[in-house]
Amino acid sequence: MDSKIKYVHTGKAGGRRYSATGGRASTGRAASAAPHPPRATKSSYTASGAQGTRPATRVAHQTRANTYVPRRPRRRRSLKPVLAVLAVIALAAGVGCWYFKFRNITVAVNGQSVTTHVNTTIETLLADNDNFGVTPGRLLSVGGNVLDEQGGDVCAVKRGDEAVAAKDFATTTVSDGDALTVENGADATEPNHEEEVELPCAIQSEGHGAVQYVSQWGKPGKKIVAVGETSGETVDKEIVEEATDMVVTSKNLSPKGGKYVAITFDDGPSDYTQQILDILEEKGAKATFYNLGENAQNKPKLTKAVVDGGHELASHTMAHKNLPKLDRDSLRNEITTAFDALKEASGETTQMIRAPYGAFTATEWARSGDIVSCNVLWNIDTLDWKRPGADAITAAALDGVKNGSIILMHDGGGNREQDVEALPAIIDELQNQGYKLVTVSKLMELDGSIPDEVIENKVKLPEGSVLPEA
Ligand SMILES: [Zn+2]
Repeated sequence: MDSKIKYVHTGKAGGRRYSATGGRASTGRAASAAPHPPRATKSSYTASGAQGTRPATRVAHQTRANTYVPRRPRRRRSLKPVLAVLAVIALAAGVGCWYFKFRNITVAVNGQSVTTHVNTTIETLLADNDNFGVTPGRLLSVGGNVLDEQGGDVCAVKRGDEAVAAKDFATTTVSDGDALTVENGADATEPNHEEEVELPCAIQSEGHGAVQYVSQWGKPGKKIVAVGETSGETVDKEIVEEATDMVVTSKNLSPKGGKYVAITFDDGPSDYTQQILDILEEKGAKATFYNLGENAQNKPKLTKAVVDGGHELASHTMAHKNLPKLDRDSLRNEITTAFDALKEASGETTQMIRAPYGAFTATEWARSGDIVSCNVLWNIDTLDWKRPGADAITAAALDGVKNGSIILMHDGGGNREQDVEALPAIIDELQNQGYKLVTVSKLMELDGSIPDEVIENKVKLPEGSVLPEA
């Protein structure tokens, strides 16, 4: 024991300081000031309030006592079990994840086993296997033309007996054990939209005979069409409202209440016209004259004389053109200018025509049916223009004549001496047979089946009606 060491109360419970030899208390310097700080041992005395009263002797024999107070060691809990549980959970999750997302499954495609991952879509399955060698369909326009040889469905897929739409390939997954059939892709149609459009009316011709007129006006209908987004093609889908076709009726006339015939003269007026008018007046017969507009302009007095004689004046068109060879505007011009010329010469308004050569087809009707009341052909052709002799002309005029017959002669277009010579005999014989010689309009009136507006030259396109496209 070192007697030089004495210990000093610092007044602080449990707090003691060493005082080195010399009796000086050291309060500012800690244990390091001691020459040999004691080791912390189990026997080290730990002061406390209660222990502060322990005898100093006890302390005194503690060699190299110091103030070092070791902490009571804390008992630590091990993390190992927790980590182990977490590891197991993570492993299980990983395995589960793999199982549900990546495990292999087997499907049968066209009878062959194919291994793939669970949750594989049909689209991926096809892509991974080069579409199993099938050929894609074509992309077609709405009209059925090929836009892209390989633009259709990639392939046709059935799962079991159930077809899977191509649009569902990307969202349909295969399951273990599925039996798939993969075949060549179907053709697809380009994107398209529907529109309601006018359904045009057409033209129909019915009957046979010398007098032609519009018996029914055309009206457009409505239809739904599909319009191709790429091709621009238009295809009929559905008729909403049927169109009403324009109908041109041809018929021979059957006047009631007697026997009637109509003698007609084309290509005038000419220098022969007045002689013919004189004969008609002398015989008390009426006739119909189909004047050319140009001739009426050149000899307006003769055109006027026709009307003044109580005969019917109608149009043989302006310049004797073959009307089916004209376009729509030229056709209408040829007709209207002639009407105007006749009106100018005679003061009479007419819509009746006799087309040169009788040529007036459905197309001409579709193009001008709104300005022509009727086209009058003939039942008996005298072939007078061949100049076969007056007797031959007379014989031809009478051959096969019957009630309602329309007889064709000419007062213009060449030398008409034979017509002038034949006419009196023709009239005499017809009258002897009991026929009355009347105008074509009178024949139509006596027939009783011709619409009033046709007879009265008051034809116009009714409201809501249209002419067919032609
Ligand atoms: Zn003619």
